[in-house]
Amino acid sequence: MTITDEALKTVELDQGAVGRLSRMDSLQNQSLAKGLRERESVGLALIQEALRRLDAGTYGICTECGDPIVAERLSVFPESGTCAHCGH
Ligand SMILES: [Zn+2]
Repeated sequence: MTITDEALKTVELDQGAVGRLSRMDSLQNQSLAKGLRERESVGLALIQEALRRLDAGTYGICTECGDPIVAERLSVFPESGTCAHCGH
């Protein structure tokens, strides 16, 4: 009977640990989602900026050095206003 009790106790402890991990996971997900939302608002400003450049005919031109931004970079970061050398 002692062995069974021990086994039950172990299972209970394991479940407790899993519960704590799950809570940590959800906390992490919350901060991840928060970070994502903050990034989204930054991204939106960049996209609006990119649309303005599109209107002005300067889209795809680095705002820092005036060099054309390579299409590869624009396909990954369409809102990017600078070339790979000048940052993002
Ligand atoms: Zn540049």
